[in-house]
Amino acid sequence: MTEDRMLHSRWIEVDLDAVAHNVSQVREFLGEGVRLLAVVKSDAYGHGIVPVARTALAKGASMLGVTHPEEGMSLREAGITAPILVFRPLLPGEEEAVLRYGLTPSVSSLEQAVRLADAGRRYGKRVPVHLKVETGMGRTGLKPAALKDAAAELFSLAELEWEGIYTHFASAAGDPSFTRHQFRVFQDVVRHLAERGVVFSLRHVCNSAAALLYPEMHLEMVRVGTLLYGQLPAGVPQNSLELAGTWSFWARVLHLQRVQKGDTVGYGRTHKVRRDTLLAVIPVGYSDGFGIDVSPRPVGMGDLIKVMGKIVLNYLGFPVGTGYVIINGASAPVVGRIGMELSCVDVGKIPGVEVGTPVLLQARRTVIRASVPRVYRGEMLPEGSGFQKAPLGDTQM
Ligand SMILES: *Cc1c(COP(=O)(O)O)cnc(C)c1O
Repeated sequence: MTEDRMLHSRWIEVDLDAVAHNVSQVREFLGEGVRLLAVVKSDAYGHGIVPVARTALAKGASMLGVTHPEEGMSLREAGITAPILVFRPLLPGEEEAVLRYGLTPSVSSLEQAVRLADAGRRYGKRVPVHLKVETGMGRTGLKPAALKDAAAELFSLAELEWEGIYTHFASAAGDPSFTRHQFRVFQDVVRHLAERGVVFSLRHVCNSAAALLYPEMHLEMVRVGTLLYGQLPAGVPQNSLELAGTWSFWARVLHLQRVQKGDTVGYGRTHKVRRDTLLAVIPVGYSDGFGIDVSPRPVGMGDLIKVMGKIVLNYLGFPVGTGYVIINGASAPVVGRIGMELSCVDVGKIPGVEVGTPVLLQARRTVIRASVPRVYRGEMLPEGSGFQKAPLGDTQM
């Protein structure tokens, strides 16, 4: 580990033992009878998809969830044989890869289902699918009315095996009454389909927040991401789960520079030095995802005031949000514009900073580019045996 660190000027440290611990905590919380789908989309929330997937499966996850088929393919190529649910709708033409790699697609439209069934017929394969029902997220899935219209055709597609049915909550922590409404709509759909004789062995609706807040909605499976990565979803009160931190972003001081009152720092000369001080240059910039904060439109007056307050505080020189880093246990403000690959921090008040001193950075985990090296701590599970793509000869037509 120490040797590994020496090689990097910037790196992300991932603690797989902490991931394992968090998976176990969630498993314990769920109790027997509820399956855990570990969500490993977006490179396992910036942790590295393959090592996290292995750890989650070893600790009792029974399925993996990704957004894109490519993510599922990379898991298969790493030897992972567990079922993998692909959340997003497939584009026309992606069916073959999904069949070859044995992924489980979500069905969000009749057209998509027909294409999948065609591919299944072409290759002589039955395709396990999960039906996505749109109940209020406003994104993908079949709305209940559309589902009613499509049902006869949909469920007569002989090549599709309707293994699961699910929906996704828009505001699990923030809006309990809307969440309950979405759940009711979902359960109505499930009931109507059961009356037609269509039953699903896996019903699932909960993400991390809902899994914690609404045990009565666990059904057969929950889809959990955030908790596995050691974070409580926003708006969820502290509870009995003991989650461990899994991820930290580090860089080393590259260069130190004394500056004098009146000097300016960085592009655009936006920062004017107010008193003589010492600046440290660190090798991270916006191209790494450093300093990029996803700032959605404020919701309501309270949120607006919070956002404006942050801007004003930063302007006045009291860094909040991602505007500071930690060196030798003390916080140091980022000064000047963050560059593409280099940034400056004011370390004038922090003793003992040298070239090479590690700097702990704050950043959104999911926006750090994949080329920043991941350094793993904890038990790294071995590779599985090589994956053989299913032979899909046209001969099987
Ligand atoms: C991301 C995602 C989840 C997991 O959400 P968390 O809040 O991180 O637990 C669950 N289901 C779907 C469909 C998702 O896209």
